[in-house]
Amino acid sequence: MSLLVQKFGGTSVADSDKILAAARRAIQAHQRGDQVLVVVSARGHTTDELVALAREITDHPPAREMDMLLSTGEQVSVALLAMAIESLGVPAISFTGAQIGLTTDSFHTKARIRNISTERMQSALADGKIVIVAGFQGVDENYNITTLGRGGSDTTAVALAAVLGATACEIYTDVDGVYTTDPRIVPEALKVDRISYDEMLELASLGAGVMHSRSIEFAKKYGVPIHVRSSFSDAPGTWIVAAGDARRLGVAVTGAALAKDEARITILGVPDRPGVVHRIFHSIARANIVVDMIVQNVAVDGVAEISFTVAKGDLPDVLSAAEDAAEAVGASRVAHDSEVAKVSVVGLGMRTHTGVATTMFEALAREGINIQMITTSEIKISVLVERAKAAAALRAVHEAFLLHEINVEPSPPFVPTSTANRAMKLVPLIDSDAVEARPRGMEDLVIAGVELDETQAGVSLFGVPDEPGYAARVFRAIGDAGVFVDMIVQNVSLEGNTDLSFTVPRESADRAAAACEPFARGRIAVEPALAKLTVAGVGMRTHTGVAAAMFGALAERSINIKLINTSEVRINVGADIASGKLALECLREAFAVNGD
Ligand code: ADP
Ligand code: ASP
Ligand code: MG
Repeated sequence: MSLLVQKFGGTSVADSDKILAAARRAIQAHQRGDQVLVVVSARGHTTDELVALAREITDHPPAREMDMLLSTGEQVSVALLAMAIESLGVPAISFTGAQIGLTTDSFHTKARIRNISTERMQSALADGKIVIVAGFQGVDENYNITTLGRGGSDTTAVALAAVLGATACEIYTDVDGVYTTDPRIVPEALKVDRISYDEMLELASLGAGVMHSRSIEFAKKYGVPIHVRSSFSDAPGTWIVAAGDARRLGVAVTGAALAKDEARITILGVPDRPGVVHRIFHSIARANIVVDMIVQNVAVDGVAEISFTVAKGDLPDVLSAAEDAAEAVGASRVAHDSEVAKVSVVGLGMRTHTGVATTMFEALAREGINIQMITTSEIKISVLVERAKAAAALRAVHEAFLLHEINVEPSPPFVPTSTANRAMKLVPLIDSDAVEARPRGMEDLVIAGVELDETQAGVSLFGVPDEPGYAARVFRAIGDAGVFVDMIVQNVSLEGNTDLSFTVPRESADRAAAACEPFARGRIAVEPALAKLTVAGVGMRTHTGVAAAMFGALAERSINIKLINTSEVRINVGADIASGKLALECLREAFAVNGD
């Protein structure tokens, strides 16, 4: 018998009428002959209200007690939904996270799932009951209640779908699918009928609040098809599926996302020697903070600047970790800006960045929006802008990629097939305490491989002015010269100018440099060959510490890092070409990946 997992978000169970409507949906599926397991969030704004209540008592509520408090919201919902289903004549039973043995680590308020025991759910399902499970919560090995992080009910739902081998996981919410961007900010956004796990992973972790990004890690690792749809209509929604089932031919950009509440930290005067980057990120990773947009300037006179972004709420913790690290490595000072936002575009069709980057940067230039930092990965480009201009930036970018026009043939409805053989081939889990001080579990990092690319060259422009339109002009000229750009990084400018670095195929390096010549206000440096090293996996950024582990492994062999790119599926670094093979070997060793 096939099993369907349905998840109802807060707005979908906000009042008794909505709870009854959710109950009817579950019953409909049950009457079609499926076994049905429902995951529910707290009603309406309950979680926000509980957070506010705690803050009325104290500015620093203990994380353990926060979890004790926040988990109550979901407990209310499951009980009411079970009553609703029973009242409509179908047997139902509700469970908390602890009651289904959903065990997590002990990182309160951002715990990760270690294990789920399926017996109790399976026996209730076999009895013909609709099983209702509280989302967002679990219990650690000492029976302390934990929560998975805001929005975490999605992760509970997909994890349960994975362990129980569900045919699909339906996410019922207040939008009828995944849109090209948040429709609340850009009303012209369009629904996407299918999207790949990798694109959704990027979008979710770059700010698309419609799905908790960790839920997509589960979906990808275990091959669970997700159907995001409206609780208030029967319209088909968006299927989040494997790349082969999702491909939108001819489309470079699938969606755009905004992370509004970001903060930028810059460490200045960082000595340019192996091990320093590792030292800095190691201490931040230990604080369990997700870091993004790591950018390191090309060193001048033996010192470099390293910038990165974090969620604004993590700023106090990160600053103290960064200040300690800066002192330890002999950097001159730490600066920060808490009024920034990150705008990103994501698309599997973005094989090279030249055209996509130019379109994005020109759109921002037309609005007079200054780009403070740039980073890319294989399937995304992110820029950091002033927070006050963030919504305008998102709108401009969305329009520039014509995301408001239907530009692909709609795919036929996705039909999930048998669950057999859907899961990724799971490679050895990381076995290094440098990565995470967490014991193994279901949500552990999975590394898919380590790669070396020796075909790239690096180009750096020094003395780049801090003004709107500069990056747009540079990448327009490079594109016009027929050069494909791979990685792009630009650090923030603190003294009126900065550097812009990018990689291109070796044979195009001189052509790219010549194309930049008219815009250069300072020196242009070409590194004729660069070793690009990649560690690929799932959830590379949200698992804090992967980048630090990579930097650590390279530092141990005295390999200096020149360029860094991070994404949810890959971390890339550029290093000296002569150290390429050695770097590959030491990364394979560090991440327990063998060479074949
Ligand atoms: P739930 O409580 O059901 O989990 P959420 O508020 O977490 O609902 O997620 C739904 C919201 O996500 C939508 O109302 C929408 O404003 C926001 N959102 C952000 N980005 C996107 C996107 N790309 N597509 C659809 N919705 C998005
Ligand atoms: N109730 C939790 C929150 O508001 C979990 C969720 O809704 O997914 O974050
Ligand atoms: Mg949500």
